[in-house]
Amino acid sequence: MEPDLVRRLIDRTTAVIIDKAEELTALDQAIGDGDHGINMKRGFDALAAQAEEIAALPLGPALQKAGMALVMSVGGAAGPLYGSLLMAMGKAAPEPPANPAAVAAMLSEGVEAVKKRGKSEAGEKTMLDVLVPVLEAVQAGDGDPLAAARQAADQGLAATKDLLATKGRASFLGERSIGHLDPGARSSAVLVHAVCDVIEERT
Ligand code: ADP
Ligand code: MG
Repeated sequence: MEPDLVRRLIDRTTAVIIDKAEELTALDQAIGDGDHGINMKRGFDALAAQAEEIAALPLGPALQKAGMALVMSVGGAAGPLYGSLLMAMGKAAPEPPANPAAVAAMLSEGVEAVKKRGKSEAGEKTMLDVLVPVLEAVQAGDGDPLAAARQAADQGLAATKDLLATKGRASFLGERSIGHLDPGARSSAVLVHAVCDVIEERT
């Protein structure tokens, strides 16, 4: 693994979350309590504050420590979910990683952990409507995996608009949740793009 990959992942994901914080908050104002951007920004600021320490670790422990940082700082529903995603990916990270099958296996563990923690599945208008299609695209392993992951994220996000929320705060709105993008799906799509960009620059 390239030594500064983790550092670049932290720097980029933090930058995009800060950049999109207002948009995430606006989406959450429509179908939640309007804190998703604030929550995510607080979490990624905390992650950035530990960037040097985390980047000094091998990929597995780095992901686990990053997950802990998010659990302890994001708050809301999203904090434990993103934390579970990263911690489970970290546990599954081989040493050294970096073939597509290993990445798919890591991501699969991460997505399973989110489902378990959220007691949720794709189709419920959550971050899983981005994460599950991205996982499936990476698992399919045909064509350009980065392009496939980005496209799956964009399509999964767009599809949340017409879905009825059955998990999280948006579910309190029932039918009125229809017609809005899910804020957590948007943050997941933003993060998928950022990770793909960093991986692409390195190859
Ligand atoms: P809160 O809902 O506590 O205010 P956030 O606003 O930070 O937390 O995060 C909301 C996002 O979390 C939602 O848009 C959704 O994507 C995700 N989410 C909420 N509950 C679940 C769940 N049970 N499973 C998966 N994702 C969920
Ligand atoms: Mg919220």
